[in-house]
Amino acid sequence: AARTRFAPSPTGFLHLGSLRTALYNYLLAKNTGGQFLLRLEDTDQKRLVEGAEENIYRSLKWCGIEVDEGPQQGGPYGPYRQSDRTSIYQRYAEELIQLGHAYRCSCSQERLLFLRDSAAALKPPTTVTYDRKCLHNPLETGDIIRFKSPSVYEPFDDLLHGHLNLQPQYNSDDRRYDDFVILKSDGLPTYHFANVVDDHLMRITHVIRGEEWLPSTPKHIALYRAFGWEPPQFTHIPLLTSMADKKLSKRSGDIGIFSYKERGILPEALINFVALLGWSPPRDTPGVSVDETMNLSQLVEKFSLNHLTKGNVKVNESKLIFFNKQHLQQRISTDCDLVAAEYFPVFDAATGHKFDITYLKKILVALGPSLQSLNEITTNHAYLFTDDDIDFTKGTPTFKKIVQRFLELWASPFAESTTKICEEFNVKKKDVFQSLRNALAGGAPGLTIPVLVEVLGDDTAVKRLKKYVN
Ligand code: GLU
Repeated sequence: AARTRFAPSPTGFLHLGSLRTALYNYLLAKNTGGQFLLRLEDTDQKRLVEGAEENIYRSLKWCGIEVDEGPQQGGPYGPYRQSDRTSIYQRYAEELIQLGHAYRCSCSQERLLFLRDSAAALKPPTTVTYDRKCLHNPLETGDIIRFKSPSVYEPFDDLLHGHLNLQPQYNSDDRRYDDFVILKSDGLPTYHFANVVDDHLMRITHVIRGEEWLPSTPKHIALYRAFGWEPPQFTHIPLLTSMADKKLSKRSGDIGIFSYKERGILPEALINFVALLGWSPPRDTPGVSVDETMNLSQLVEKFSLNHLTKGNVKVNESKLIFFNKQHLQQRISTDCDLVAAEYFPVFDAATGHKFDITYLKKILVALGPSLQSLNEITTNHAYLFTDDDIDFTKGTPTFKKIVQRFLELWASPFAESTTKICEEFNVKKKDVFQSLRNALAGGAPGLTIPVLVEVLGDDTAVKRLKKYVN
């Protein structure tokens, strides 16, 4: 059983990329009968964003991703918010000093800046900046603690990328070291240190995270080794890009999860879509394509780290719309009452409190198969609530005559009256339908005429047909 975690920093709203990280960790834990943890990495106090923590909880909840251990749930390895764990990090930083793998540094800010600038000016430049002054002249005081990094980092196996040997850029003419800070002068740990201490103490077995953390992994492994701990298994998942292969922008998906909700996207559609951004379900029979429409429990059942993809992943919104349509149809057919109850407040507000829930249900059943999102009910099908936007003058004089005749034949069955009209006016069925559609729905497509009449009800339908004729 895998113990996994999602470790967001509350520095912004949960977006597609972080949702995918959370989801893969959740799926792996649940697929193997393990636990999924939520840990808040909030030690960089300057970057905290008001409301971000709440947003993370609400987003996961909306998506159906249940947390086994976390700040809200508690658990045996808590606290799960890093700012509540400072004494733990301080203790482990001391332990590293005792073990000879860390040391206090009392260099001034100016000196460190000077070291950084001179490292950048070297040819070739180096990414390691510290000269180990404080290792060689230790002072009792010194408020930051540095890790005494190994001269060569250990290669490691990433479950997706295989064997990797990642070393920082050294300039061999210059004696500098990658002795990164583990405890800052404010007593708070840095990301690397807190992350490693927590993953160890929280018994994490698998870390799935974005590729941007790949360069940090050798440092993390070095910390595990310094403590004599076994590192977890790492899987770094590819970055998400726009269709044009660019960094995700606000328009191409770098937006909060709730903006999808506002657009009428169902959580199961979003989850389905996000799961396939870097993973695909196994093909049972070679050559036979698999059904990619899956709900959360089907995803749990099918997920494994063996079917992840390596290259950058393009976020194709049309696929999200496709899934939304599939899931919406499924929901309406299996649970129309629930969909109606959930959506009714939006519907009620959008239509000005004039309709009851049975009307919405009628609409859901009628429009269900053609809807891509629930919002379309009030945007594309506003004619179902009001005739304000209907242009009753649209069409030819013949259209008017057709509608007039249709009203006269109102009592006859639909097929009969339309056939009759075609003969009498020497027009095609298509013209008859178009005239009626203009009168009933301002020409909007989506519902057949009989269904349109049935949904609107006889009274409203007749009223509109008469309005069109006059
Ligand atoms: N706090 C880091 C983040 O915001 C966690 C990275 C990791 O999973 O190690 O992504």
